[in-house]
Amino acid sequence: MPTQPVKREVSVPETITVAELAAKMAVKGGELIKALMNMGVMATINQPLDQDTAVLVVEELGHTAKPLKENALEDSLVSDPALQGELLPRPPVVTIMGHVDHGKTSLLDYVRRTNVVAGESGGITQHIGAYEVTLPSGQHITFLDTPGHEAFTAMRARGAQVTDIVVLVVAADDRVMPQTIEAIDHAKAANVPIVVAINKVDLPTADPNKIRTELAGHGVVVEQFGGKYASVDISAKKGMNVDQLLEMIVLTSDVLELKADPDRRAKGVVLEARVEQGRGVVASVLVQSGTLRVGDPFVAGQVYGRVRAMYDERRRTVKEAPPSTPVEVVGWNGTPSAGDQFVSPLDEREAREVAGKRAALHREHEFRSTKFISLTSFHDNLGKGGPNELKMLIKGDVDGSVEALSESLQKLSTAEVAVRVIRSAVGQITESDVLLAAASGAIIVGFHVRPDVRARELAEREKVEIRLYDIIYKAQEDVKLALEGMLKPELKEVVLGTAEVRQVFRLSKGVIVAGCMVATGKMVRGEKIRVLRGDETVWTGRVEALKRFKDDVKEVEKGFECGVTLDGFSELQEGDRLESFKIEELARTL
Ligand code: GDP
Ligand code: MG
Repeated sequence: MPTQPVKREVSVPETITVAELAAKMAVKGGELIKALMNMGVMATINQPLDQDTAVLVVEELGHTAKPLKENALEDSLVSDPALQGELLPRPPVVTIMGHVDHGKTSLLDYVRRTNVVAGESGGITQHIGAYEVTLPSGQHITFLDTPGHEAFTAMRARGAQVTDIVVLVVAADDRVMPQTIEAIDHAKAANVPIVVAINKVDLPTADPNKIRTELAGHGVVVEQFGGKYASVDISAKKGMNVDQLLEMIVLTSDVLELKADPDRRAKGVVLEARVEQGRGVVASVLVQSGTLRVGDPFVAGQVYGRVRAMYDERRRTVKEAPPSTPVEVVGWNGTPSAGDQFVSPLDEREAREVAGKRAALHREHEFRSTKFISLTSFHDNLGKGGPNELKMLIKGDVDGSVEALSESLQKLSTAEVAVRVIRSAVGQITESDVLLAAASGAIIVGFHVRPDVRARELAEREKVEIRLYDIIYKAQEDVKLALEGMLKPELKEVVLGTAEVRQVFRLSKGVIVAGCMVATGKMVRGEKIRVLRGDETVWTGRVEALKRFKDDVKEVEKGFECGVTLDGFSELQEGDRLESFKIEELARTL
């Protein structure tokens, strides 16, 4: 019920406490708590709400919610206009991708070995996740030191776009391979330009032209063929034409006009982190904008600190790190994760606060395990600032069917929603598919194929929906229903365990506790429960509390006694049976 005469637009960050949200809407805390209760959310005034809940309650109160993107929390720390100066050119950040054994590591090694800036004693000795090279022209390029698609997409899945340019390595004595195609998909999905490096041209069997032709077949038409992609024939092993490749990277980056403001507070991303004896937590950070200095406070994910010292890839101490510079940072209160956004606010208190909020949010997330995109929920999110594009990855057993399916699904696009296939390929559903889907907010459709074990586990962790089909028209039908908001999730009841009620305890205030013996499975606090008498279900509700002797516990296993407090059932009798169960949503399989 809208009670406010004034309709406001309320920006909703990733997490916000009840008190903060109430202040934004100019309502009393109590009023907001009541509105939340009406929605079935019990919250106290200082409790952080996740974005979905906050958006719902804002709209419930008659306002318009504007969800802020991920990392808005960090961005707000460094977005003070007073702190901003002029945008200046910055070096490009490059990731090397390509099929296994096509020469990614060799290329990185060659560049690392040979880039000895005049007057220095040696090349790059430390592995810090990235390194910066200087060309004879004085220009700089920063290379991410971890080749591979997983690193690239894992970062993107965390909301960190780190790479400006992808160098696609293809061996000239081989052909365009599955990971070559994957790399192209990843780069295109991230909208990052590709520079092609056709490697191993020193080999007598090398046929660079064949590679160029094959690449054209995958939508990468090189300049020699009248396309837009730069391509250089190289030998990473002999170092042939690598200088030309570096020049090409610089040219490509010139077109991008990469700029950053070195005068503001530093912002970047954690590339990797480890604990070292004697040094404590050491994390490699790529500064993306602003300048990081020794002594600056910072926050990254759930941890924070103050820069005690910084080192470059040659283990030299660094006082300042401007945009596109990778540095090792010492001075953390904990270990950050790769892909965490790194920001340096003006004062340490802010850093501590944001880290605290992140930690709270993380707990919330784990607790509620928020859904990403699913076919069933897609339509519900349409009007609420959700995507108006249903993105999909399609994997199938044969080329023809993959194409047919992908075409027929894209044809289902309507005026309001587009179906966009970001990858269609032959083969099992792999981890790399799941990562790409997670990074792009896509679902995965499998046709006559299944995910492998690791892909399935990752999909569960990343909340990526995988739908499996054996019949094309069934897939079409589901997608059509999803676009119309009509697809119902398939629900399945899973029995967790059963217990016999041996004694009924009536405590003060009408609280009733069932003294039980767990007969099969387990009893789980918070899950659903039904009371069976004979064959009849006499009550269904929730396990409010679970005790082993005097201790509150989360679960009690088969063969143990326990006390179960039922949420609101007073007619419990000795001899009743309890059945603990939960409802699971199933991805439909045919
Ligand atoms: P990655 O799996 O893509 O990192 O490939 P590697 O860099 O490990 O290279 C795979 C193999 O190809 C190694 O045996 C390299 O020595 C070899 N190799 C890499 N680049 C070249 C090259 O330019 N010419 C020749 N002949 N061999 C190369
Ligand atoms: Mg390698």
